[in-house]
Amino acid sequence: MSEENSYLKNIWKKISEDLSKNTEAIDPVVYTTYFTSAEIYEITKNNIIRLKVGSNMDKMILEKFIGVITETSNKHLGGNYNVEIYNSDELDVLIGQSEERKTNLKLDLEIDLVDNLQAQYTFDNFVVGESNKESHAAALASAIQPGEFYNPLFIYGNSGLGKTHLLHAIGNYSKKNNKDLKVLYITSNDYVTRVVNSFRDKNTEEFKQDMYNLDILLIDDIQFLSGKDKSHEIFFSIFNELVNNRKQIVITSDKPPTEINGLDDRLISRFYSGLSSSVDSPEFEVAYAILIKKLEQQMINPDNIDDDVISYLATHFAKDVRKLEGALNRVIFYSINFGKEDQITMKIATKAFKNESKKANDIISLDSIKSTVANYYGLTIKQIDSKNRTRIIVNARHISMFLVRKHLDLSYTQIGNSFGGRDHSTVINAYDKISDKLKTDKSYKVAVAEIENKILSN
Ligand code: ADP
Ligand code: MG
Repeated sequence: MSEENSYLKNIWKKISEDLSKNTEAIDPVVYTTYFTSAEIYEITKNNIIRLKVGSNMDKMILEKFIGVITETSNKHLGGNYNVEIYNSDELDVLIGQSEERKTNLKLDLEIDLVDNLQAQYTFDNFVVGESNKESHAAALASAIQPGEFYNPLFIYGNSGLGKTHLLHAIGNYSKKNNKDLKVLYITSNDYVTRVVNSFRDKNTEEFKQDMYNLDILLIDDIQFLSGKDKSHEIFFSIFNELVNNRKQIVITSDKPPTEINGLDDRLISRFYSGLSSSVDSPEFEVAYAILIKKLEQQMINPDNIDDDVISYLATHFAKDVRKLEGALNRVIFYSINFGKEDQITMKIATKAFKNESKKANDIISLDSIKSTVANYYGLTIKQIDSKNRTRIIVNARHISMFLVRKHLDLSYTQIGNSFGGRDHSTVINAYDKISDKLKTDKSYKVAVAEIENKILSN
């Protein structure tokens, strides 16, 4: 069986399995009567999937289901394809049109081999810092000169730290340089499914051959291969064949190779023959830069979101970039739906997290502000609320009022009342005073930021 044919067969198997399970859209009796003759004849470069069916009746019936067929196909192919249905007579006519066209079709197919790459993950939008610079550099080297430098390249680290992003970036970059490269991104789960299906369909050799023909194999989350003995063995031979032929393999995992239980020792020692490199949680600056990048990607001007909101997110969610993005999206979502102004402020951000398990209002309350400021200056809340005019106490009182105004949704009058019954004008004065000081006095700014961080991380 040719490479294209086995590829199309595999794809159609997935699509048709899905269709047969979708009994709400397609009655099982309709499926078994009319759908089983269908196969993919070709996928053209201009995104047409041509289905071939056995009879004109099959064709007429399938056309009634064109919506769900298209939707399901696009799900599996990860693209935007149109589906056309032909019976074999029509296809004969189509193909007979010209020899030249026929060769074009074949060419189209070769280009169209699915690589599973997601275009949005590129090196351009990957932020590099201390925590990931080694993995990034190695990934880029593998993309520039596949098979030349580190083979295999093994990237490991906790969830949400950019491993999958790097895999796609390698594929996208290398294909941009050389569109003829055969690249495959696959998760180890999908790999196992494919192996298992190949046993069932007795085409394991063809499957292996497909893999041997790759220039770059990007295999994600290898830890899920553990315990799958048969799939191991095949992976071992694919691995050796590719590495021996200087074809690039890049593998990711949530653990370093030796810590993955249930993986063949031979395989683990092979993993070390190239480079293994880790990704860690981003440091503050990188998390900050990632947030700015993600804003730009969403066409949001970073000026429209207050600096302290970005700092807050970068401080509190940087352990996992996926969660960092989630937190940013939450703030944006909240501000679009409930914010009164265009600017995204800390006040909005605080509200956005109000219903989170760690309730923001519990994190930031009047008392938590007062007690953090008091602690910072070695004072008590009582002193802050008192009428005492000692400089250090006045300063702490003013900072507390300022932070309450900034983070909580309280009026000047309410704030005055909660600071030992002071007038609202006192609060306004305090707020203005601190605002001015923050603009001119750098060390003051650092101190207040430190206090603020303590409040937010309580
Ligand atoms: P992993 O595979 O390690 O679990 P992903 O690659 O899926 O993590 O990353 C999760 C999300 O975080 C993705 O949207 C990815 O784009 C983003 N991300 C992670 N690291 C970075 C980075 N250094 N720069 C930009 N985006 C990043
Ligand atoms: Mg991943």
